[in-house]
Amino acid sequence: MSRFFSGKYSELEAYTPGEQPQDRKYLKLNTNESPFPTSPKAMKTVENVRPLQLYSDPQCGIIRDKLAEVYGVDRDEIIAVNGSDELLNFTIMAFADEEHPLAFPDITYGFYPVFAALNHVPFEEIPLTEDFKINVDDYKGINKNIIIANPNAPTGIALPLSDIETILKTNPDNVILIDEAYVDFGAESAVGLIHKYDNLIVAQTFSKSRSFAGARLGMGFACRELINDLNTIRFSTNPYNVNSCSMYLGTAILDDEEYTKANCLEIIKNREYTVQQLREMGFEVTDSSANFIFARTPDMDGGELYRKLKDEGVLVRHFFKKERICQYNRISIGTREQMEAFLAAVRKIMGE
Ligand SMILES: *Cc1c(COP(=O)(O)O)cnc(C)c1O
Repeated sequence: MSRFFSGKYSELEAYTPGEQPQDRKYLKLNTNESPFPTSPKAMKTVENVRPLQLYSDPQCGIIRDKLAEVYGVDRDEIIAVNGSDELLNFTIMAFADEEHPLAFPDITYGFYPVFAALNHVPFEEIPLTEDFKINVDDYKGINKNIIIANPNAPTGIALPLSDIETILKTNPDNVILIDEAYVDFGAESAVGLIHKYDNLIVAQTFSKSRSFAGARLGMGFACRELINDLNTIRFSTNPYNVNSCSMYLGTAILDDEEYTKANCLEIIKNREYTVQQLREMGFEVTDSSANFIFARTPDMDGGELYRKLKDEGVLVRHFFKKERICQYNRISIGTREQMEAFLAAVRKIMGE
């Protein structure tokens, strides 16, 4: 820390992204990226990107119009963002403060507490049940702004829409953000509820199901008033938050929905296969509706398995700092060949 770093951040513990080591070639199953290339049809249209000497469109017109068409909502109910992480930050900046603290599960996406701390917003971490589920009673009428990842990370467990509606109804004076980064792999989306609840924001991303993580493109759906407030924050931080390449190619990706859907089905198939194989080896695996699985074995410490897999050239995500889940590893689902290679490495390690 330099002597110039503001004291208001002295306690801040920054988010640690999944490792991207360059020392050797790894089978990367640690950051939930798609194993499939970005839509080749979309990539062929790259010459049509708005000339890069011009600023990107601050209204994000083309992508919002296309999203409106695909998701059946109005363009005024959409905000485009530089990855959905940006929307999480905008939401906390716009709606949370000392009087409107945050609540989210104790086991969830690690960025929520970081954004809360960055913005000096108090937060409560509500414990998941013993089997890592959300008990909706814990969220009834708590009078806090709530963030829920659905499916949750890193457990992959999905929450039914009826439970989300209960949370929305019993906290009418608070903003509820549903983070649907993984919704395309098997959970029910809450986007359709934005017309029914004026306190709902749904965050989605192109990073996982649409093979576009490096382009940083995400979107939020909510009623006009909430979108307006989010835009006040967006125009006060970075009006050109979405670059022209990502905006144009993202729109072209939405013209190729069959490709996205086929890739999601393939991931789901590979997930079910991998879960079944691991369970046969005695692993405990949560029921995942995402493009990753969350597993432990009674036969080896979770951190040790992570290290041995790394020695074998397989990267998975291990959460060393979180005591409740330190026996687990989170494994991204890749192609069938990648999962066979992963399973072969596990069999070798467990057989030793
Ligand atoms: C990956 C992920 C995001 C972030 O997605 P970006 O759009 O790449 O910023 C948000 N929430 C959860 C739960 C995620 O796992």
